[in-house]
Amino acid sequence: MLLPADFEPLWSCDRAPLPEDLWFVFQDSALLVQEASPACVLPDGAVLRASGVVTTECRCVGKLGAAYCWVASIADRELPVGLVAEPVRRLFNRLPDDLLAIAGRAQQILEFDRTHRYCGACAAEMRAHDGGRARACPACGHSAYPRIAPAMMVLVKRDGPGGRELLLAHGAKFPGTMYSALAGFVEPSESLEACIRRETREEVGVEVCNLRYFGSQGWPFPHSLMVAFVADWAGGEIACQPDEIVDAQWFALDALPQLPHRLSIARRLINAVVGECDPQHPVLTDNMAFPQPPASA
Ligand SMILES: [Zn+2]
Repeated sequence: MLLPADFEPLWSCDRAPLPEDLWFVFQDSALLVQEASPACVLPDGAVLRASGVVTTECRCVGKLGAAYCWVASIADRELPVGLVAEPVRRLFNRLPDDLLAIAGRAQQILEFDRTHRYCGACAAEMRAHDGGRARACPACGHSAYPRIAPAMMVLVKRDGPGGRELLLAHGAKFPGTMYSALAGFVEPSESLEACIRRETREEVGVEVCNLRYFGSQGWPFPHSLMVAFVADWAGGEIACQPDEIVDAQWFALDALPQLPHRLSIARRLINAVVGECDPQHPVLTDNMAFPQPPASA
């Protein structure tokens, strides 16, 4: 998910919340929203006050236009009538995209605070550090910043007998019959390029070449930074990694399977590659394209 262009990331705010501010209140990992079918709205400060829920760990995570964005958590198990708590992913298409992206940032910061109360080295209580960006241990000096896990994504393509084909896989944890580009976490000291070659070899048994950077996107489930590439098939037949990949196939552009949600970088990547090959393709519901290189002087 991409933070909106008019969002300013912040770590603190020197004023108290005002009525026009936005509230991202979590019960564990679920976001509080006001029930309204099928769309939802975030409860504002007045609704939260009237509901009687008790918020803790309140902090500012940024500013959208003139509205400051606050994250907080609640310990209440029972929610008042009209409020429900839903995992952020279940709110896709029900909350505006901009608010979903900010909710992702808010949830990551809240989770960072929750899991860094005590020092991992000496177990002393940690304190806010570096203007709220980090937490530091006053006893031993150890400090920690929010965890961000880089993960590569690659869409492999080739020219098949009937035209351009894309290698898409159905992972063991994927919902329904969705297929997507290959992805995997970067290991210590590994480059993104080496990770792509290793993961494609491990997951589907193919070799790739001509890596081309597409773009990156935070994916706060729970704290990934997806870095996406396109590659050409260089050899090898598909052999799925047991327990990881249920199925992988070369798909012709006119026979694509169910694809990931439009808010994912996987979908932007697939749309961009399809759009390069066939600008009129019906899968192109978004106006996505490869970033243009800067004009040379
Ligand atoms: Zn310590």
